[in-house]
Amino acid sequence: MLHREFRAFLALLATRPINTRRNRTLRAPSRLRLLRFFRRLLIASLSCVLLFIIAWFVFPFPVGDLTRYPADTILLDRTGEPLRLRLGPHDTDCRLCYRPDPDRDWICRAVVAAEDQRFWHHCGIDPLALGRAIGQNAVHRRTVSGASTLSTQVVRLLHPRRRTLWTKAVELFRALQLETRLDKRAILEQYLNRAPFGANLVGIEAASRRYFAKEPQDLSLAEAALLAGLPQSPSRLRPDRFPARAQRRAAYVLDRMVACGMITPAQRDAARAMPVALRTDAYPFRAPHFCDLVLDTQALQVGGPDASHANAPAATRAAERAGHLDHAIRTTLDPALQRLAEQTLHNHAASWRTEGVSGGGVVVIEIASGAVRALVGSPDYADALRAGQVNGAMALRAPGSTLKPFVYALAMDQGRLTPATVLADVPRSFKDLTPVNFDGVFQGPVAAHDALLRMLRQAGLESLDQSAAHYGLNLALGDAPVRLLDLANAYASFGRGGVWRPYRLIEDVDSGRASRHVCSPEAAWLVAEMLGGDDRLPESHHADVRAPHIAWKTGTSSGFRDAWAVAFNPVYVIAVWAGNPNGRSAPALVGARLAVPAMWEIVRGLYPNGDGPWFERPAGVTRRTVCAVSGQPSGPDCPRTEEAWCIAGVSSPHPCDVHVRQTTADGRIEVVEHWPPAVASFLRARMAPDAGTRAAQPDEAPRLVNPQPGAVYRIVEGLDTAQRLMLKATCRGHETLYWFVDDQFLSAGAAEAPVPWTLARGHHVIVCATTAGCSARADIVVE
Ligand SMILES: [Zn+2]
Repeated sequence: MLHREFRAFLALLATRPINTRRNRTLRAPSRLRLLRFFRRLLIASLSCVLLFIIAWFVFPFPVGDLTRYPADTILLDRTGEPLRLRLGPHDTDCRLCYRPDPDRDWICRAVVAAEDQRFWHHCGIDPLALGRAIGQNAVHRRTVSGASTLSTQVVRLLHPRRRTLWTKAVELFRALQLETRLDKRAILEQYLNRAPFGANLVGIEAASRRYFAKEPQDLSLAEAALLAGLPQSPSRLRPDRFPARAQRRAAYVLDRMVACGMITPAQRDAARAMPVALRTDAYPFRAPHFCDLVLDTQALQVGGPDASHANAPAATRAAERAGHLDHAIRTTLDPALQRLAEQTLHNHAASWRTEGVSGGGVVVIEIASGAVRALVGSPDYADALRAGQVNGAMALRAPGSTLKPFVYALAMDQGRLTPATVLADVPRSFKDLTPVNFDGVFQGPVAAHDALLRMLRQAGLESLDQSAAHYGLNLALGDAPVRLLDLANAYASFGRGGVWRPYRLIEDVDSGRASRHVCSPEAAWLVAEMLGGDDRLPESHHADVRAPHIAWKTGTSSGFRDAWAVAFNPVYVIAVWAGNPNGRSAPALVGARLAVPAMWEIVRGLYPNGDGPWFERPAGVTRRTVCAVSGQPSGPDCPRTEEAWCIAGVSSPHPCDVHVRQTTADGRIEVVEHWPPAVASFLRARMAPDAGTRAAQPDEAPRLVNPQPGAVYRIVEGLDTAQRLMLKATCRGHETLYWFVDDQFLSAGAAEAPVPWTLARGHHVIVCATTAGCSARADIVVE
């Protein structure tokens, strides 16, 4: 339509002299007509300019569209390597990793030569090409040349329209606007990221990886020429379907590059001679459970935040605000740590399987940032038979006694507990099981459970969403369900001096969620010290002199369904879970047996030289003299004292009530040990399950038969056999007596039944206790 008018205008200009020469009488009216014509032309031109200016401001360039792509979601690890690719809408494969370097990358030069040779110099419209196109189209009376520039093509790729002269005009207008918005490099980037390359490929990154398994900047001249030719007619030129056509087009692009002076004819000939081999890059698929989790939390965020998962969506929301979360998401995953975690779980799972345990999970969190550095949800994601896709790190499982450190911290902040009292309350060899009976330590069970539940929720265990009454004792016994990831993040609070922070899955983004206080820095430090003592090195590590200093706790859920181990130091939390995805129990599912070796393997992998960092003691933690048996501040009757940590002004100053004076039948006054009810009920619950159903027995202290207090024994040199002492006591009304040597549980046996103990040189304290909490004691010496 327009070119018809243009031709009429040309004809008019051409006919003017003829008119003047042919008919002089028409001269005046003709000149008048001409004048009128030019006046109209001027008005029309001015109107056009005015309209153009108005349109420029009334219809600004839709800048927002420049950031919208049909893009894949690419998850990257913290170093920027791809972990997972999820195709864009309609299965489009569009990756946005490429940043063009026009001076270095062949693809940039090849595209400019193929599509728009004056790209670097024009203003969005190439007047030379436009003039030529108008001429050619006028001559051929159809569209021969589009006079497209890369800028107009970006506009067309942004808003595809039916091709008419009007849309052409709009594209030219938008191209001019685009040039004022973006610099040339950014326009080239827009083009390269939006151009179609055949099949479902959009953008050079996807094309380059799919056809040549390379990043665009690594394309050779020949490969770049081949890809640069594709967008002109992507489905017709696809190199995997029509190699000959693609090669012909590549040859044309190379010729254009020579014509533009970008390459020499010799370079072109070399590129043409070089065989171009197609090779497809496999889609990345690493850290599958971690990626599932990131994508799930994203989906949740799109669908609206879910209170129970409020952790991660908050992080992604913050990411969007910060502009980080377009399509390439840099996650917190540390590739080396992830490999270590995967390898460890894989290795251990092989032996777990022989014991009827098929699932497991590992989480490593960096304490300072809350970043999840490794997450493995099953030994083998691809193992459908063993439900490998079920993410064990997010499954709700019973935590066993892994929640106990929170109980300790709570009781420490309440002044009821210090590490010394915990250690003394419990036979040391059993301190992993359950040191605290709530009835004994807290004022009342209900109040205690309320406080504990509040604290565990403060520590981010949001799966505990029922009332304290609902959980009852299960909370204390570790039967209330938690996720491995949440548990690891709760432990990170201890590493942070009692401050909880949401975990992060995306790098460089603060979740924006406020941190919370779970316990005091003093209690956090004391818990770390308690769980990090040298005596807590497992058997297999006594030989390993260079084990790093680390606090750790195991857990076993009731019914042997879950085995746990959680370790932490100032830098990392490492949490390991073993169990069956279907919840089936297995006798091997004991934390210390199954989970601890895997945990130590990761710890050793993190600190191969055995020199991990440790915490600085808070000023509020001080030393005081306590009873060596009870751990309470020593009283006048305590036979032995030692120095122990406590929280200044918080820990109970109540003196030892284990050592009490008693008047014997013959009128003598002696000091006896009266174990607190906590230990008594602990012993009852753990070691004599039938005791609770038995009728109450008269509270009577056992009487030691052997050894007698103050006895001295001598080890005879040169004897091959072990030299043993037979411990023996009598007690009326108690069938079972519990023997302790130097606070270590030795054995349980019926009254009057001898219990052998192998002599060891030194001073020893032999204690015999009843389930009711009465005891007898003898200090002996072995020379
Ligand atoms: Zn005492």
